[in-house]
Amino acid sequence: MPPSIASLQPWMFQVQPYPDESFGHFLGRFRRANCLSSGHLSTMLRLRSYMVAYWETPSRRRIPNAAALNILSDLTGVEVARLCLMLFSEETQLYFQTRLCALCYAEIPSHQLTWQMAEISHCDRHQRQLLSACPRCGNAFQLPVHWQVGECEYCHLPFAEMASDQLPVAAKSP
Ligand SMILES: [Zn+2]
Ligand SMILES: [Zn+2]
Repeated sequence: MPPSIASLQPWMFQVQPYPDESFGHFLGRFRRANCLSSGHLSTMLRLRSYMVAYWETPSRRRIPNAAALNILSDLTGVEVARLCLMLFSEETQLYFQTRLCALCYAEIPSHQLTWQMAEISHCDRHQRQLLSACPRCGNAFQLPVHWQVGECEYCHLPFAEMASDQLPVAAKSP
């Protein structure tokens, strides 16, 4: 008889969600901690092999159903209700490019859910505009699932050092 998912769970390395962390960023950390490809995790969740990769790409607007969330909760040790806090609602308008508050990232190395909400243009805590591209080389940021090192994948400028290029909210033209 094959072992149930619940009996496998103690063998998974667990990662604690950061406050306001986005689902893709969390899944990336969980998968790397357990050396799981997105296809492998999809299979463990009894889904088609591309499904986790779809969840990790916000523009695809795919979120897990209740059954998948239950298994994911068993695997990660994170309650379903907490996992749901990482997800966008269906009505949420998303900003296409991946965005960053470098000041937040310097404090907690995470991608925050609210940074991708289309109606939000700045960080409330720091009162600075969000960055949507590397200020040194101008290239777009990688999807948060790939944020392992926390730097521009092209010029390797650390995210935390991009803060000086974040304009104060007051400087935005009306
Ligand atoms: Zn911030
Ligand atoms: Zn760069």
